[in-house]
Amino acid sequence: MCDSPVISRRLLLSGLAVGFGALVLPKLPWISEAAASGAASSVTPEQALQWLKEGNARFTSGKVQTPNLTPQRIAETFSKGQHPFATLISCSDSRVPVEHIFDRGIGDLFVIRVAGNVADTDEIGTAEYGAGHLMTPLLVVVGHTKCGAVTAVVKGDQVGGSIPQLVDNIVPAATRSKAKGLSGEALIVDAIRENVYQSLQDLREHSEELSHLEQHGKLKMVGALYHIEDGSVEWLPERVPSAAASAARDAVEQAVYAWATAWSAGKVDNYLACYSPRFHATGFAGRKAWEAQRRKTIQSAGSITITIEQLQITLQDASQATATFLQGYRGKSYQDKVKKSLALQQEGGKWKIVREESGKA
Ligand SMILES: [Zn+2]
Repeated sequence: MCDSPVISRRLLLSGLAVGFGALVLPKLPWISEAAASGAASSVTPEQALQWLKEGNARFTSGKVQTPNLTPQRIAETFSKGQHPFATLISCSDSRVPVEHIFDRGIGDLFVIRVAGNVADTDEIGTAEYGAGHLMTPLLVVVGHTKCGAVTAVVKGDQVGGSIPQLVDNIVPAATRSKAKGLSGEALIVDAIRENVYQSLQDLREHSEELSHLEQHGKLKMVGALYHIEDGSVEWLPERVPSAAASAARDAVEQAVYAWATAWSAGKVDNYLACYSPRFHATGFAGRKAWEAQRRKTIQSAGSITITIEQLQITLQDASQATATFLQGYRGKSYQDKVKKSLALQQEGGKWKIVREESGKA
């Protein structure tokens, strides 16, 4: 997915980040607005989240109060400036009117709407404006059911114009969902959720400012899923914190290399030990039949070398991960290269393979 349009946008972002604090920042007009009053900073992330939950409860129960939609509010926000309590990135889909679904009015929410609720350069910059300069204590990425942008990516629809650069941000989410072996509607539903996590990850990875605020407890970043079928907002569980995540990623990487090393060395027992007892090989009557076949194949192969290239590890949570890579096989009389996807699960402190899939490289 790392083709040039995305890279160039992201490079631009890091270029901006370098000059931002030193040159551009002090001259921006919004600095004085929030900093002078300090209004938003008195709201805690938990309070802001609670307000959104209460607003959505009013919305779904038909008891909306449509707060802050009065002429007084217009006058007040004009004279005193804006002090929204949450920054949100949601899809442009016309069925996701953000202020309505949270029953909020003027000056309450700082909303970024973009197809597929992606977080690329412009969205990240806007989120930094909301969370960093207007000091909203909460940043929410809101995905929604039946999202056309995510569906198009999952189905591999042909898109033109500037849309490829937009939907490119969704590709990693679709890839992760496909690696779980899902299909049909379940695949799309999962990819929509993965896409929310992807945007959160992009915000954290590409914005030093946002991750700094989050690490210092000044900003809470959460994912949500809006159900267009009934108007409810589902709050998505938090994924592994970054320090634990990087340790887990390292452990998964070691597990993948241990697997390749055991295979290369023809150490069948070590190789088979890399697989979970729950591993089920498609096309085999059972685990025993599969083990017997692998044992025979590996032992009769003689000297072989397994190589791993372009290894990418994705954590679904603290105990589930997917590793995708190009697997090279070089033997005496045969060699090939395939695209491999291993689903791994942590069992008794060790990462074990629970599913294995191969495709064309
Ligand atoms: Zn959408």
